[in-house]
Amino acid sequence: MSSDHFLSFEKEIITAKFIAPSGEDIERRIEVRINPVSGRSSRIAFGRGAEKEPGTESLPLPPLNADDTAGCPFCKPQVMSETPRILADIISGGRFCYNNSILFPNLFPYGRYSAVSLFDNQHFVEIGASSVSSYTDCFINCRNYLCHILESDPEAVYMAITQNHLPSAGGSLLHPHLQINAERIAPNHHRFFRKRAEEYFHQTGSYLFSDYLLHEKQDGSRYVGKNGSWEWIMAFAPEGFFEIWGILPKITSLNQIMDEDWNHLAQGVINTQKFYRSLCRNGYNLGMLFVEDGNSYLEMRVVILARSNYAPWVRNDHTGFEIMLGDMATFTSPEDNAKNARVFWT
Ligand SMILES: [Zn+2]
Repeated sequence: MSSDHFLSFEKEIITAKFIAPSGEDIERRIEVRINPVSGRSSRIAFGRGAEKEPGTESLPLPPLNADDTAGCPFCKPQVMSETPRILADIISGGRFCYNNSILFPNLFPYGRYSAVSLFDNQHFVEIGASSVSSYTDCFINCRNYLCHILESDPEAVYMAITQNHLPSAGGSLLHPHLQINAERIAPNHHRFFRKRAEEYFHQTGSYLFSDYLLHEKQDGSRYVGKNGSWEWIMAFAPEGFFEIWGILPKITSLNQIMDEDWNHLAQGVINTQKFYRSLCRNGYNLGMLFVEDGNSYLEMRVVILARSNYAPWVRNDHTGFEIMLGDMATFTSPEDNAKNARVFWT
């Protein structure tokens, strides 16, 4: 029996009324939506879609340092002399390599096992122009590192793979890379989602994100497509622009993700990049969380959302409203976004 009725997809429509400078009576629609998983509210302020957003009229030009491979510590050959190495008691040779992907410790760590994984030797890659194989290799390299860390420190069970694509999304270097983290102390999202998935399972006997996905497949309006076993949907209550989720149902550990799943994930990530490129967006964040204590009900989910463009004089995508009130306000409906994204999955 389906237990997706334990998840409620609630939204409320409110209207702002005022008189335009022209004298015309105006009504603007705003939707307040509740995230069925987190309970957090967010808003879709449709009126703001008409606001001029500098830097999104066309895809921004490559940045000035797009050709500066000599000054980049992640480019060959200097990558081997200018990046840190992993301690010898974890791995001999100091780095993890998988095909063209190279992984090494983050010089500016966030935690005990912070690392960086390069896709390849390409210094600047326009959004949507990456190869599926470079992403697959990089993901598998991250997986190999994380599994190795877990063997050497079984308490470091709170793991993540993230990406800050371009500096406007938090990236400090232009050269494309993923960040990897493994921690003994649970970050907020690991702590919250692990507990939520466990309680949901005990309450309903089924998996949280599987049920969420089931609801979304039956509804259909936010469903985007499928790559292998990964299924893609627009977030119902987005906390970022064009927020999309890839879900790998019933898979709750890194060890259960096969190499072909990483390949399919890479395809979905590139499809998302192409969708963002079609909207003239060049920056995004990506993240996947893992709880590797052998007892977690949290399924694999990758979240990707567009950030402010990396272009001159672009304003930040988080205003006082998001920072101080805690409700993200995006401008377009997830249902329209799904319609526009679907073409990149066919
Ligand atoms: Zn480089």
